[in-house]
Amino acid sequence: MTPPPRAVSLDLDNTLWDTPPVLVRAEAVLRRWLEAELPALAERYDPAALTALRLEVLAGAPARGHDLSWIRTEALRRAARASGYSDGHADRAFEVFLAARNDIEPFGEVRPALAWLAARLPLYAVTNGNACVTRVGLGEHFAAAIDPVRAGAAKPDPRIFAELVSVAGVPPATILHVGDDPQADVEGARLAGLVSVWMNRTGASWVAPFAPPDHEITDLDELVALVRRLLASG
Ligand SMILES: [Mg+2]
Repeated sequence: MTPPPRAVSLDLDNTLWDTPPVLVRAEAVLRRWLEAELPALAERYDPAALTALRLEVLAGAPARGHDLSWIRTEALRRAARASGYSDGHADRAFEVFLAARNDIEPFGEVRPALAWLAARLPLYAVTNGNACVTRVGLGEHFAAAIDPVRAGAAKPDPRIFAELVSVAGVPPATILHVGDDPQADVEGARLAGLVSVWMNRTGASWVAPFAPPDHEITDLDELVALVRRLLASG
């Protein structure tokens, strides 16, 4: 039995918007910018080569594997240096990517649902990626955002949820964590003692080997209904 919630934490990518097309577009925007502004780099590194470079950076610094922005920036810096450009050029390229990566359109019900929820409970963003609630235009609804750089670890590591619990200042069992990823979000929340809510927008079946979620929803309207019911039960 889930107690009345005192806070709600939300995953971002694929929970509040559809991420794969955003990443495809952001890569295309970056590629066009590289071709125009850093042509020697674009010539030397095709997209597959830049991906390989990121994997190389990751392999050399596994302890920073949770910091996707650092990995991407460092890979661009190495590519820039090898192509006769400066770190500053690479940092501008990363900013071009990051701006496009944060240029998202939330699913249709998201803004009104967040407004309803935020009027009743503090909302927290807990993401593994480098999307930012403020940059995507949803910052007004959130009390704070927790990311792997701030927490020192990515979901499902309990450390990122411990950071959330510390910031929220309420018992873990009173926090609903909502996310689409069975391991990162549902298993992560369970390991940290939070109430898990699986965002299952695609009608997928639950996947072993993880324990099933405490609650399952297909969109944020169903989260509103769930929170309304849980608050009324308290
Ligand atoms: Mg997600």
